[in-house]
Amino acid sequence: MPKLLIKNGRVIDPASGHDAVADVLLEDGLVAGVGQNISANGAETFDASGLIVAPGFIDMHVHLREPGFEHAETIETGARAAAAGGFTSICPMPNTSPVNDNATVTSYIVDRARRYAVVNVFPIGAITKGSQGEELAAIASMRKAGAVAISDDGRPVMNARVMRRAMEFAKSCGIPVINHCEDLHLSAGGDMHEGLESVKRGLRGIPSCSEDVMVARDILLAEVTGARYHVAHISARHSVDMVQFAKSRGLAVTAEVTPHHFALADRDIPPYDSNYKMKPPLRSCGDVDAMVRGVVSGAIDAIATDHAPHPGDAKMQEFEKCPFGILGLETAIGISLEQLVHPGKISVVKMVELFTTGPDRILNLNRGTLATGAAGDVTIFSTDREWTYDVNKSASKSRNSPFDGRTFRGGPIATIVNGEIVWRA
Ligand SMILES: [Zn+2]
Repeated sequence: MPKLLIKNGRVIDPASGHDAVADVLLEDGLVAGVGQNISANGAETFDASGLIVAPGFIDMHVHLREPGFEHAETIETGARAAAAGGFTSICPMPNTSPVNDNATVTSYIVDRARRYAVVNVFPIGAITKGSQGEELAAIASMRKAGAVAISDDGRPVMNARVMRRAMEFAKSCGIPVINHCEDLHLSAGGDMHEGLESVKRGLRGIPSCSEDVMVARDILLAEVTGARYHVAHISARHSVDMVQFAKSRGLAVTAEVTPHHFALADRDIPPYDSNYKMKPPLRSCGDVDAMVRGVVSGAIDAIATDHAPHPGDAKMQEFEKCPFGILGLETAIGISLEQLVHPGKISVVKMVELFTTGPDRILNLNRGTLATGAAGDVTIFSTDREWTYDVNKSASKSRNSPFDGRTFRGGPIATIVNGEIVWRA
């Protein structure tokens, strides 16, 4: 196995509190050491002067569309997009066809990933059979096959009794339950956030309360069951307050936010542009501020992209007819720097935490650190190099991004998985 020495970068490892210019040596796919003036000794060297060297970034919420929707994305292309975004580990949601609700599908994904993905893939299994919200999926056997959490993402678990059982079962399996929080009766038929902007555009609204009531219900169930519970793509201000409240009560409740939910508001949606259509929808400016505050306060534990590729023909329809979801992997670091770090809301160390120890603590992936002996996953990024996102050059199979043409200050420079450089700018 070749050796790789990353020289002179600012090495940030939130798990150990390390933050200093240093060298990182990777050997046999693992971190062999972090220190001053490590000698190359035959290792390939990477000059990281002026760059940040961090543990490999983890995106705990992506859609890879395989099996079933390979025209939109495959495990191979999604993994390439992840690498190009600086991610070394990704967690695909189970809303494929067939749904990942049993060990056969989980094993299929794990096996395809082993053969075709340039990054680590940790699948998330379904909560219920077919994600229909009624009967529990084969949770224990999916867990054995490699599922790291359960979620019916794309759909909420509407039946509270089913959710309670799922939490009890997940707890006994040692994995968290991730819910896509949306009361379908409240959001029914909506296309964008309910408010002045939806009225102006004549589009049906998805109210914040459709998220809030579900988060409230789930927190109460998490208290009853003692389960680990995680809110996917939080977007509404009261939901953030409730997660904060749950944490203050000592509950194992966590949340993730997507870059688009702290970067864009409903008023930013250009007329009829379906690249701004996703669930939950872009919310009010007050909600956007609340997302940033949640990140700063620690109510929000992780940044996850909800990378949701859709092919051109699906997104080239009227706003009302388009599917929900946008790409996210390649722009996450750029947006996080732009919205959180450069304006001084959080430090770059905190940003690294949100992409590493944050998601790792939720999923127990045994990643997200540069401790000696840890997996040799490293994300190298710049905080000042300017670059412009061109979605037509995306490694993804799809092109649905509202950030096409946006210039960022800082972004991924190299992605290293198990000791090997899998992508570089
Ligand atoms: Zn979702």
